[in-house]
Amino acid sequence: MGWLKIVGMGPGDETLLTPQVQHALAKASDVIGYFPYIARVTERPGLRLHGSDNRVELDRAKHALQLALKGNKVIVVSSGDPGVFAMAAAVFEALEDGPEAWRTIDIDVLPGITAMLAAAARVGAPLGHDFCTINLSDNLKPWEIIERRLRLSAEADFAMAFYNPRSKSRPQGFEKALRILNSVCKDTRPVIFARAVSSPQETINVVPLTEATPQMADMRTMVIVGSSQTRIIQRPDKSPIVYTPRFWAP
Ligand code: SAH
Repeated sequence: MGWLKIVGMGPGDETLLTPQVQHALAKASDVIGYFPYIARVTERPGLRLHGSDNRVELDRAKHALQLALKGNKVIVVSSGDPGVFAMAAAVFEALEDGPEAWRTIDIDVLPGITAMLAAAARVGAPLGHDFCTINLSDNLKPWEIIERRLRLSAEADFAMAFYNPRSKSRPQGFEKALRILNSVCKDTRPVIFARAVSSPQETINVVPLTEATPQMADMRTMVIVGSSQTRIIQRPDKSPIVYTPRFWAP
């Protein structure tokens, strides 16, 4: 009997891969995913790796369901958590529209440490109070929705975590996002640019909102914007701590 597990590989470092996902990988016959994530899977005899390019999520999902129905032990990999802007929803979209037989497959989603939480932990606790998360890519939704959500989230005074902040194919979006934030927030709350968190290329940069520039972010960057309550603790010879208190001080 085959199965399908949709797993999160964490933000990069192998110590941030859960034992549950490691055990699943050890039992799999096939691993399917975007090339860079497949590259993080250790090869072994009997394990077939199926790497594919970006933006073919639905084809990848269908392939995984077909293999699992045939009796293979299939893993679909995502970075971070598979339920956060990643493959789990793509698999369920394919399942909903696909052949009835796919609904008989055993499917599990195994969580991973999402980039937002790994990034927040590197600077302290910027998400210690209410926060929201927005994917800034307009590949799968209109830009107007992103703008509306940005404006309303800032007005509601959430801390905010942005995935996919800026890519070569969409250089303007993040610039517009910063303009909206500055116009609503009108203060110098901290903005965290956490790039390639937990990898050897990791960089962490904390700047006041008024000094944040579009060039500070790329597709390997997680951007976290504090709320009006977010604080910075300066320390001698150590990087500053950024945190948002648990209480609300009007
Ligand atoms: N499922 C993934 C997110 C996929 S969207 C997760 O849960 O983390 C891809 C975006 O995630 C990137 O554009 C970037 O904004 C963020 N990201 C993924 N890994 C990251 C890392 N190690 N450091 C910083 N940001 C990362």
